[in-house]
Amino acid sequence: MSNPTNEVMIEIKNLKKAFGEHVVLKDISLQVNKGSVVAMIGPSGSGKSTLLRCINLLTVPEQGSIRVGAQDFSFGKGDKASKPLKDRELAKFRTNTGMVFQHFNLFPHMTALENVMEGMLTVLRKPKAEARAYALELLQKVGLSDRADIYPQRLSGGQKQRVAIARALAMRPSVMLFDEATSALDPELVGEVLNVIRSLAADGMTMILVTHEIAFAREVADQVIFMRDGVVVEAGPPSQVIDNPQQAATQSFLTRFN
Ligand code: ADP
Ligand code: MG
Repeated sequence: MSNPTNEVMIEIKNLKKAFGEHVVLKDISLQVNKGSVVAMIGPSGSGKSTLLRCINLLTVPEQGSIRVGAQDFSFGKGDKASKPLKDRELAKFRTNTGMVFQHFNLFPHMTALENVMEGMLTVLRKPKAEARAYALELLQKVGLSDRADIYPQRLSGGQKQRVAIARALAMRPSVMLFDEATSALDPELVGEVLNVIRSLAADGMTMILVTHEIAFAREVADQVIFMRDGVVVEAGPPSQVIDNPQQAATQSFLTRFN
């Protein structure tokens, strides 16, 4: 279970993102408290990945504002808009929001341990011994102490995804964003990744999970957001959004999972 506090960790206001004429996020506002676990569900193409990518500025929105912890960015015209972001500011912002993707994107020429160490060495500029010690600690946390010296090619999908989670955690992020982290896995490997996410929730990590694992969302999330066509259709605790949805679109989406 998650341990939400009253402190707001992520605050998104009036976010808008278009690709050409296609408006993909239409005036999205949401708040995520520190220690909260938010499950984002919705049909394919509804803008879930785009919203996650905006939160760590892999995609830059046209309008609105995004705050993660103490870092605040505004977009669009007007006095409040931030100046164009410098690469250094972007890099710093991104270390604060760990992202885990459907496909693991590990460096193939590096061992599990080296993959976890890499960002600590190149971005955080930690001494090698310190990076190695923390990487080993994180591999232990995700249950892979015995795989430290193995290359990705010889790891299962579930193991690769756990290395990817350890690599994201190595940057000591305030927030973890998971974009369908288990969708590419064989069914028998899903559980080991969900267990790692469960343990992060119990540790008080603030997380947003885009997932099709509705039962897992109900179990681990304290907030569920249902998105469709770039709009938050319904948001609230799982007992409401999953078990007793009020909107026809949410009801119709969820019948597919019953
Ligand atoms: P979801 O993750 O909910 O499936 P996405 O955020 O991936 O949805 O996509 C929402 C919409 O935005 C889709 O119609 C998709 O085709 C479009 N889209 C996403 N990324 C891009 C891009 N880089 N260029 C153009 N269109 C994009
Ligand atoms: Mg997606």
